[in-house]
Amino acid sequence: MGDRTVTYSPAFTLVPTYECFNRCTYCNFRRDIGSSGWLSVEAAAKQLAALDSEHVREILILSGEVAPNSPQRSQWLERLYELATLALDCGFLPHTNAGPLTRAEMAYLKQVNASMGLMLEQLTPKLLHTVHRHAPSKDPQLRLRQLEQAGELGIPFTTGLLLGIGEEPEDWAETLTAIAECHRRWGHIQEVILQPHSRGQRQEEALLGFDLSQLPQLVSWARSLLPQDITIQIPANLVTQHKLLRACLEAGARDLGGIVPLDHVNPDYPHMDIDQLRTQLQAWGWELVPRLPIYPQFLDWLPPVLRRRVPQGYC
Ligand code: SF4
Repeated sequence: MGDRTVTYSPAFTLVPTYECFNRCTYCNFRRDIGSSGWLSVEAAAKQLAALDSEHVREILILSGEVAPNSPQRSQWLERLYELATLALDCGFLPHTNAGPLTRAEMAYLKQVNASMGLMLEQLTPKLLHTVHRHAPSKDPQLRLRQLEQAGELGIPFTTGLLLGIGEEPEDWAETLTAIAECHRRWGHIQEVILQPHSRGQRQEEALLGFDLSQLPQLVSWARSLLPQDITIQIPANLVTQHKLLRACLEAGARDLGGIVPLDHVNPDYPHMDIDQLRTQLQAWGWELVPRLPIYPQFLDWLPPVLRRRVPQGYC
């Protein structure tokens, strides 16, 4: 990869369920338990059959959470496994992000995922009294332990910061430092997303949000705090001013995340057409290239059955 290369993942999202036992006040994704049902394997198969498998590589399995003590938890886990297996059978590489998992659950899903992810969001516990007051799985120590657990299990992992949810700028360093320390122990963090909270139509509480003009400086700061082998990702659809996107690249961001038909977490923010985005970046002197949901340096971590699914040219 050249110095002026930016990656993205051509992706499609399967949502096993929008139902979530947490109620983060800024969420534009969740539905109440019992209100919207679960995605069946048959319905998912129809969605995947309609995809251009030459173009799409990643199936992001993004789920609302079933409470750890719920009698439905094992059924939900099984559905996550079945959907990832389906994606593999259809020629795609799955990446699951379904909230905190037990060690056994994570080890189970590892068998059918190229990589996994969980946003650390922010380490400061004060958010448990504000935006996360009805979200037990947003306990920052629980989430930090997930990163550690992924490292112990040898799972290539994506994490990140959610910005503008009530934290102070001084909180960012604590969160970035914790990610860096975990990566130094296990070497498994492939990318860190710097994701500005972007106000949507469905959220319960209007937040001040994140001042996007601060993002390039934060990218630069994160670049200095994180180990060099961790890529910094900026979701291109959330950086709505082109000059700021360009400044983020110049500051050290090198990935634009999954480019999907619909960003289910931020449904009010569509992605730019990929050809237009590529042309825009070219005009700034950047080359946009597709990547897999697993970064090349982690391919040897995959069990043989998954390694065989990696398309030629990426090995
Ligand atoms: S942000 Fe995630 S954990 Fe929080 S309510 Fe929404 S879906 Fe659930």
